[in-house]
Amino acid sequence: MDFLPFTRPNIDEATIAAVGEVLRSGWITTGPKSRQLEAELSAHVGGRPVRVVASATAALEMALQVAGVGPGDEVITCPLSWVATANVILKVGAKPVFVDADRASRNIDLDLAERAITPRTRAIIPVDLAGLPVDRDRLYDIAKRHRLRVIEDAAQSMGANWRGRRIGSFGDLVSFSFHANKNMTSGEGGCLVLNDEDEARLFEKLRLQGVTRHADGGMDVDVLGGKANMTDIAAAIGLGQLPRLEGFNARRRELAALYFRHFDRQLGCELPLEDMAQSNWHMFQPLLPLDRMSMDRGEFIARMKDLGIGVGVHYPAMHLFTLFREMGFQPGDFPVAEDIGRRTVTLPLFPTMADEDVERVCAAVSGVLKPVLSV
Ligand SMILES: *Cc1c(COP(=O)(O)O)cnc(C)c1O
Repeated sequence: MDFLPFTRPNIDEATIAAVGEVLRSGWITTGPKSRQLEAELSAHVGGRPVRVVASATAALEMALQVAGVGPGDEVITCPLSWVATANVILKVGAKPVFVDADRASRNIDLDLAERAITPRTRAIIPVDLAGLPVDRDRLYDIAKRHRLRVIEDAAQSMGANWRGRRIGSFGDLVSFSFHANKNMTSGEGGCLVLNDEDEARLFEKLRLQGVTRHADGGMDVDVLGGKANMTDIAAAIGLGQLPRLEGFNARRRELAALYFRHFDRQLGCELPLEDMAQSNWHMFQPLLPLDRMSMDRGEFIARMKDLGIGVGVHYPAMHLFTLFREMGFQPGDFPVAEDIGRRTVTLPLFPTMADEDVERVCAAVSGVLKPVLSV
């Protein structure tokens, strides 16, 4: 049987042809395709300004700069995310203030977030883990009352919605990723949704060396920028993906529903929150019943691989990484995030999977776990 990876990008022939056209056109860096992608993304989020960049990590870092976050500032986030979420806080010289995850949603616990606010808190970075949106009503209520900026790390929640409103179409700064594994891709890439044209202009300068070009051919530099522009090669891929996003996400939702139907509840795994209305089902992640298993997670992943099934881990709680341990974070600081991070496994979920693939994965999980479970 073919190996079933935990995810796989879905690129059609029209997109491959469009990339070929860009390559033949003589203009392969940022140009008309990048501007077209920005216009189409803006339409996707109800007309708000959108700018594309080389990665969501770059978008998040520059979003912090647009929000005026720097040395001496504190930024609240959750340690259960891809490490980019906290790295960018360090990159701008600010201090990451972690708060634990909520067990049901596995997203940031907003009660704890509110309690972590100090006079130095400038911003909060919520993460929609696996594409399940953080409670936007409560989030923006807190932000408004404490005058905090919000930089939404929506890397995983492209096409998801909060109470029927598309993520990115409201709120403060919103960052999406087009990494190869995300629900839509440009190979590598990302974008930021901003509040107005002034913010968009500052963001444009930050992504390309701080340069403002003048009509007479001259230029000026008045802020320190970096190098994070998107190529038209990548933008052509993104343009081929965006019109298919809703279809991709609808299929992901169907596959997630099949997981809930076929997964053996007797195994003692904890399943994710069954949200069939708002999540874009970026990932399907049971938590293993490790304390009842005579096998660790690494062995489970290896046994699944022997059965031709790819299993990922997204993510270990990041405050336990050496970089953050050296800043004083310790085991036990965030018990929910640590428990989820220790037990989580990402099972295959991508739009071109067949219904039978889900049944095969569920059967394999049962086959691997049953013999090693104690009662
Ligand atoms: C993928 C991801 C990022 C980073 O996106 P890149 O485009 O790879 O830089 C940040 N945060 C989360 C939660 C992600 O999943």
